[in-house]
Parts: sequence; C-alpha cells; structure tokens
Amino acid sequence: MASKLLRRNLLFTIQKRAVKSSVTRNSIPWLRKSAPSSNWGYNGSELDPEDWPKEYQCGNCQSPIDIDLSKVTYSSELSPLEYSYPDNFKYMVNDGKNIRIHWRGETALSGGPLKGTYELVQLHFHWGSAEGKGAEHLVNGESVEGEAHLVHWNPKYGSIREALKHQDGIAVVGVFLKEADDGAESPLSSILNRFPTLSKFNEKYIFENDVFNVGNLIPKNSDFICYDGGLTTPPLTECVQWIVLLKPLVVTKREMDIFRSLEGSFGNNFTDNFRPCQPVGDRVVSSSFEPEK
Ligand SMILES: [Zn+2]
Repeated sequence: MASKLLRRNLLFTIQKRAVKSSVTRNSIPWLRKSAPSSNWGYNGSELDPEDWPKEYQCGNCQSPIDIDLSKVTYSSELSPLEYSYPDNFKYMVNDGKNIRIHWRGETALSGGPLKGTYELVQLHFHWGSAEGKGAEHLVNGESVEGEAHLVHWNPKYGSIREALKHQDGIAVVGVFLKEADDGAESPLSSILNRFPTLSKFNEKYIFENDVFNVGNLIPKNSDFICYDGGLTTPPLTECVQWIVLLKPLVVTKREMDIFRSLEGSFGNNFTDNFRPCQPVGDRVVSSSFEPEK
C-alpha cells in the first residue's frame, strides 16, 4: 500500500514537472512560439479557463458555443462534407493537456462552408469525469460525455503559422461522443487501448501495424452547423471555421472510462478538459437543415 502511494506521488511529481517544462516549449507544437505562456489548464491549474482571457487576447468570435437549434440559419449553400484520410497514423503523444494524434499520408477535407480543400493536422479529445458533461459545444444547453476535434489547416496559406492569422485558416470538425452501453465497441477502441501507455509528458506511441481511419469517427449523413470561431484552448486565436456534427459517435462506458481513468495517473489537466461556452453575439450559426420551430 505504502509503495503504491509512493509510486503515485512520484508519478504526480513527474507529471507536475513535466507540465511545468511544457510551459515554455512544447505544449502545442504546431502553435509553438505563438503562445505567451502555457501555464494554462483546467480544474485548479495556475490559469483556469475563466482566467485565460487575462493572458490571451479574445475578440467576439470565441469558441465553444451553445448551439440554439431554434436560432440557426439554414443555408442551402452548405454541401455535404467530403473527406479522405489514410488508415495509418504516425504517432500519439501526451502533450501535457491532452492526447494528440498525428498522421502520415495525404488527407483532404472539403464541403460544408469550406472554400477549397483542407488538410488534417491532428486529432484530440475533450471529455468529462461523469455522465452528461465533457463536450465543449452544447446543443440547446445540453452536453454529452465528450467531443473529438479533427483539426485541419488551409494549405493556401503555406504554413500553419500563417493560417492561424486568418479566419478561414483552420477548420475543425467537432464530433460528439455519446456514452451508451449497447455493447458494441466504437471505432475509437483501438487507439483508446493505447492511451494508458502515454502517462508521461511528451511520451509517444509510434504506430506500427495499427489500423485506424479517422473518417470512421465521422457519423454518416449527419446534420451539421457551422460558424466562425476560435481555438478552444490558448492562444484562443479566432481562425477557425467550425463544423459541428449533430449526430454523435456512440461510445461504450468502458471506452469513456478509459478517458476518465487518465485523471488518476496523468494529473488534473486530464479530466473535465473542456472550455465553458462563450457568447454567440451577433454571429450567424448556419445549418445544413431547417431550424426547429
Ligand atoms: Zn479541441
């Protein structure tokens, strides 16, 4: 028992040190240098979500938002999403705040509100410690257990750094994760089983023969909404064309519990890692369907 406790404390110390060392270097490699500091986090960190705007510039186009289905604007110009992703990954990494997954090979996303074709940068997740919370976007004030973010960039800007300076520089597809115990494993299962091996900051799992296609996470024929917003983590840059699918990906309780178990060994950034909703203001939230009356 004592040695178990000791090991836990040691892990916690390592984790704390690791998170500290992420402050100046590596928290989000594709955004490195653009963040003034990265002591931000969730749940009692040095800088919790309500304090992020003190350190990071926020305009009127922040994310996430609560999607009021009676106030969306139907747009006949929104075409179905088209995407193509490879079956093989490059690696998954613990970035001190999340587990991020990177690709090898060509990717393409178009349709919806997008002009041109975007390319996938990474996939990550937001989740909650209990049923009924965890997603970043809400729908009519209601949450589900998690949300996957497929982050793409617009190659017309030449670099991701340049893309971050433009409202159409990044496109994120948000897929809700809804816990339901129907017994069938979700397409996430194969990668979730690897998560517990990534308990230390910067620890990587290099994919070998694992097969996982991110396209399988996207529910087919789902209605979706779109709006101009920003990154939901610092530096909160307003550069995102958001595409949020309303049909969730159904995941089992066992799968959601893998996310939740990361809290114990990974530290307090690894649970309830969602930002509260931000004002919609006078932004138009467009929909691929007629609004509820
Ligand atoms: Zn996210």
